[in-house]
Amino acid sequence: MACFFAQNVLQYFLDAPHEDHGNEVIYMAKDKEKSKKRWKGIGAVFLFLLVIAAGAGIFYLGHKAGGGELQFTFPSKSTTTTTTAFDPANGLEVYVIDVGQGNCQLIRFAGQTLLYDGGEIGREDDVTSFLRKIGVKRLDYVIASHAHSDHVGGLAYGILENFPVGEIILPFVPKDAVGIAQSYNAFLKAAEKKHNKEGTVISESKALGRVNFYLGGENGAACKILGPTQFVLNNGGFESINNNSVCIQIRYKDTSVLLTGDAEEKAEMSLIESYNDTLKSNLFIAGHHGSATSNTPDFLNLVRPDMIAVSCGLNNSYGHPHAEVLAYCKTHSIPVYRTDYQGSLLFVSDGNHFSPYVITE
Ligand SMILES: [Zn+2]
Repeated sequence: MACFFAQNVLQYFLDAPHEDHGNEVIYMAKDKEKSKKRWKGIGAVFLFLLVIAAGAGIFYLGHKAGGGELQFTFPSKSTTTTTTAFDPANGLEVYVIDVGQGNCQLIRFAGQTLLYDGGEIGREDDVTSFLRKIGVKRLDYVIASHAHSDHVGGLAYGILENFPVGEIILPFVPKDAVGIAQSYNAFLKAAEKKHNKEGTVISESKALGRVNFYLGGENGAACKILGPTQFVLNNGGFESINNNSVCIQIRYKDTSVLLTGDAEEKAEMSLIESYNDTLKSNLFIAGHHGSATSNTPDFLNLVRPDMIAVSCGLNNSYGHPHAEVLAYCKTHSIPVYRTDYQGSLLFVSDGNHFSPYVITE
């Protein structure tokens, strides 16, 4: 079944005109054109009303699409960022959405959005509601990091259906891989439906050694797929589904955020070999929910994050995040923000550094 759907979906871009571009040029051009018009037309959606509670370190972000207000709070008074530095229209926003034991991040710059994973089956309504509350009307890019249900379940059963989607980037999944989630087949079906209905581009993740696409134009946030590397893919990919996770670094001016899905030690080693100290990222979304099978000291020594966010469920049966990872962060004075303790999180970059916020409703 998996192969049938995979082939069916993949056929769309195999048939499409090709350039080694990471995305399909013809479809993408049309899509961008549509996207531009759409954004012009609904610019008003992004008229966020920012009400700052002066001096309290607390402010409210109101918005038209809402249905309730979200409250953004500094998690620590030790941060030097002031509330006035936050401007959602100009900064790079990285939302780490609380989906319990699973993974889901939304990155937004200048109104363009990238959703990286969609949480477990059953989380689709929570994620949809959260996205609507922060004013998301369209997902320009959706990346499924790998074929496990705590990453694609929500995408399969509602999120894709609930938003217009520009492009869906699929992970590499080895044909004979064991442990491909049933929900991954449902996800591929949902992607196929989006393609048929709205012309959503379906592409396969490619590390090009350069920027794959931008959010908010060429002066915006540069999204570079790092892994699995082309070398790894040319050799059939990794055996493990986790290690084939789509790894992406997003850079805005002097800051960057790194997302590696559930990539584990082997994949981290391959990233080290390929990219060395360019892995340096101000914000790191901990690999594999903070497991010690990922986040190896050698890898973290190169990423050298200013802060780490962990997406995991409260009292999860895996014990994520693992003590070794937390100990590393403590030793290196890296603040750790966790969805199990703090709920959904927001990190905003002004181009110089990220400011963390805890989100409450
Ligand atoms: Zn996972």
